[in-house]
Amino acid sequence: MKIVFATGNKDKMREIKQILGNLPVEIISMKEAGIDIDIEENGTTFEENALIKAKAVAGHCDAIVLADDSGLEIDCLGKEPGVYSARYLGRETPYPEKNAIILDRIKDVEDKDRSARFVCAIAAVLPDGRDLVVRGTMEGMIGHEIAGENGFGYDPIFFLPEYGKTSAQLSPEEKNAVSHRGKALRMMADRLSEILK
Ligand code: IMP
Repeated sequence: MKIVFATGNKDKMREIKQILGNLPVEIISMKEAGIDIDIEENGTTFEENALIKAKAVAGHCDAIVLADDSGLEIDCLGKEPGVYSARYLGRETPYPEKNAIILDRIKDVEDKDRSARFVCAIAAVLPDGRDLVVRGTMEGMIGHEIAGENGFGYDPIFFLPEYGKTSAQLSPEEKNAVSHRGKALRMMADRLSEILK
C-alpha cells in the first residue's frame, strides 16, 4: 500500500517520514509520485486547507492521499500568522528576518500574554472517496530571542516553558514526540489502521 503525502516541503517530508516510519506502508511525496500541480490554499481554517490539498492530489492518483496544513498562532497578534504562516511577511523573506520582526513587534508584551501554539491539521482522502481530518497542537509561548538550529520556520522563537528551550533546540526525536505534526500524524495513523482493518 502506498500513501502519497501532498506536500512539496522537504522539511515537513523529513518529519513525516520519521514519524510514520514504522507503518508498513511506503510514504512518498507528491513529487515522487510524479504529481506536479499548483494548489491554491484558499481555505480559512487549517482543516479546510488540508482537505483542499488532499482532494486536489487525490484526483491525480489511486493511493491514499494525506495532506497537512499547519501554522503558528500568536495570541497577542490576534492569532496571526495562522493559516498565512508560510506567506506571512513575504513568502521569500528568510525566517531569521521574519522571526526578528515578530520579536520586535511584541517586544513590550509580558510573558503571560506571549502564549502561542503550533497547529497541524491532516486530511486523508481514501481511494473510495471517503475523507477525514484530524488536528494536533503544541502549546508554548514566543520567546525573547532567536535560539536553536534544529527544526525550521518559526521554531527558533517558539519557546516551550516545560523544556526551558525553543522547539529549534529540541532534537528531531524530542520535537516529533510533542509536536503538533507528530500528534496529528499519530492520530491519523491510528484512524487509518482502524479504517483499513
Ligand atoms: P503550510 O505549508 O501551508 O502548512 O505552512 C506551514 C508554515 O507554518 C511553515 O512554512 C512554517 O512557517 C509554519 N510552521 C508549521 N509547522 C512548523 C514547525 O513545526 N516549526 C516551525 N514552523 C512551522
